[in-house]
Amino acid sequence: MIYLDNNATTPLDPSVCEKMAWFLKEHFGNPSSLYPLGRNAKQHITEARELVAKALGASRSEIVFTGSGTESDNFALRGILQANPDKNELITCAIEHPAVIETANYMEKQGKKVTYVPVDSYGRIDLEALQEAITPQTALVSVMQANNEIGTIQPITDIVQIAKRHGVPVHTDAVQSFGKIPVRVDRIGVDLLTVSAHKIYGPKGIGALYIRKGTRIQPLIYGGHQERQLRSGTENTAGIVGFGEAVRILMLRSDQDNKRIARLSARLKQGIEELVPKVKFNGHPSERIKSTLNFSFLGLEAEALLLSLATKNIYVSTGSACSEDSEEVSHVLGAIGLPPEIARSSLRLSLGRFNTEEDVDTVLKELPEIVRRLRDISAFDPDPA
Ligand SMILES: *Cc1c(COP(=O)(O)O)cnc(C)c1O
Repeated sequence: MIYLDNNATTPLDPSVCEKMAWFLKEHFGNPSSLYPLGRNAKQHITEARELVAKALGASRSEIVFTGSGTESDNFALRGILQANPDKNELITCAIEHPAVIETANYMEKQGKKVTYVPVDSYGRIDLEALQEAITPQTALVSVMQANNEIGTIQPITDIVQIAKRHGVPVHTDAVQSFGKIPVRVDRIGVDLLTVSAHKIYGPKGIGALYIRKGTRIQPLIYGGHQERQLRSGTENTAGIVGFGEAVRILMLRSDQDNKRIARLSARLKQGIEELVPKVKFNGHPSERIKSTLNFSFLGLEAEALLLSLATKNIYVSTGSACSEDSEEVSHVLGAIGLPPEIARSSLRLSLGRFNTEEDVDTVLKELPEIVRRLRDISAFDPDPA
């Protein structure tokens, strides 16, 4: 199997799997219980929290574990607006993940004012438009650090600077950037930051939200006071321990991994551009997560291409996994100016830790042939009059 859909989810690192299996067997205690079995489970959560905090340049008390990246995004947006009832405006960006876009849409229906700041053809946010959108009523600016479909990296420190001039807190969804580029809250200065374990070779169903000390926020979930009353519910202890282990490994090897992945990805990109006619690369040439490659294969339906590749055990995506089953074209590709028929021809290949040189060789062998065959069937005219 050649897995090139690491932006949708990553395989579990074997060491994470081992640690979780051990934990599930040995430590079933409820972390809230006062006897040693509970204390022990609590201690493991504390250690995992320390690892996540350290990796993000935060302190332990600023990390809240949640059920997913999606929940962290919901928590940040809804929690901040609810805690600031005197302010009813949210500013976000046109190419955010559905976890942010759909939450913003919902809040709009609840009577909030939401501005979706546009991006250029590379997916970079319009900083002037952002500046103009800020009013005294703005409760929060939320802009992702790196985009999941095209990999474009946002100028997050500039965004923070602009917002801070107006005293507005900033949230960033760092699910796709964590482990790939520096993500340190002490350097970028954001107030809230979302991460998710299953995008960094950890388990699914566990995320975290960094909340800067002193930030006023309302919980989404009420109950037994876990996570300093900010996220009640008995902790996903094995998930948290797995998250911690995934972060520990990330700290050890991500620099080396990223260099290797960037080389593989560059070779794959160059190969596709040389061997497949009529392709268009989507995303920023340099300000981009290098492991993410998004191409439009003109004249094709990306879904047909995806399914043909799957018959060769090559797994890719047409964009956001969360919108895969909907008929609409990607809002990200729309926002960078692709007409629907070109957006529908777009495929995302996202590399990760476990990809090899042979994977790239195989894709470069199979893909051009599949594209040619599909274009023959569809009577694609590469040079229409
Ligand atoms: C995957 C992803 C999410 C959602 O995280 P889950 O843990 O799957 O809910 C949010 N934002 C971005 C950018 C993502 O890639």
